[in-house]
Amino acid sequence: MVMLLRCILLAAALFLAPAAQAQVKAVASFSILGDIVKNVGGDRVAVMTLVGPDGDAHVFQPTPGDAKALAGAQIVFLNGLGFEGWMERLTQSAGYKGPVVVASQGVQAQKMAADDDHKGHAHGHSHAKKDRKDAHDHGALDPHAWQDPRNVARYVDNIAAGLAKADPAGEAQYRANADAYKKQLAELDSWAKGELAQVPKQKRKVITSHDAFGYFASAYGVAFLAPVGISTDAEPSAKQVAGLIRQIRKEKTTALFVENITNPKLIEQIGKETGVKPGGRLYSDALSKPGAGGDTYLAMLRHNVAVLKAAMIGS
Ligand SMILES: [Zn+2]
Repeated sequence: MVMLLRCILLAAALFLAPAAQAQVKAVASFSILGDIVKNVGGDRVAVMTLVGPDGDAHVFQPTPGDAKALAGAQIVFLNGLGFEGWMERLTQSAGYKGPVVVASQGVQAQKMAADDDHKGHAHGHSHAKKDRKDAHDHGALDPHAWQDPRNVARYVDNIAAGLAKADPAGEAQYRANADAYKKQLAELDSWAKGELAQVPKQKRKVITSHDAFGYFASAYGVAFLAPVGISTDAEPSAKQVAGLIRQIRKEKTTALFVENITNPKLIEQIGKETGVKPGGRLYSDALSKPGAGGDTYLAMLRHNVAVLKAAMIGS
């Protein structure tokens, strides 16, 4: 009888063991990536995000608390493509020596938009920088690859592979989560294509404050003009803003947007001078705060497509 009871207790302990197992401690560099890691990791992974909702990863300044979080991590996820310039110093100061997964690995990276206006802006920015040698705008890669959900499918594979390496017992789970999420990405992509195809080609022109939508532009055939370059760490010159205003008038572009990470003042000023009303807010480099309509990657892309479509059709 005692033997049997022992056996039952032992079996119960074994059965309960997986539930009590500690979660993998993961750190993701910014909110959008954090959400994608959560979708792949499910309940096996606890995700901490460094640059939070509505935060700007281009100009992020890590705190000692961030270094502490990193020091306790078992795996770290980055976007890559030069997005997190502050990360190397942070990993060093945190003494983090664990695996670092570059989520964009294998993505077909784009350079800055090829039209002359964008190039002009980029040149202006890099020369305006304090350190001219740090001319990362010249032919630099556009880091905002997540704006095309087909790229995010690649992120998902990289994340699943990284998690499986760090936590081999969870491999099947990560694979299943990744496949389910990739299915949602593919559905979102074909929905977005259908929505934006309803906008006449000559109306597919948008102005945003910083140049974060190059991948979106390629995926969905929408042209974006931006007074601020690919990074947000430089102010556009008065000349660049004047040039953009001229272009808006000439091309009669009427879809004008602010982003959740940038100061809306510049776009509001352009709106005033051109008589164009800002069409809303786009999520470029960060999720919204919880409940604000862009609090997951899927929600933010759906939001962006909907407001873009409405503004362009009404233009
Ligand atoms: Zn950006």
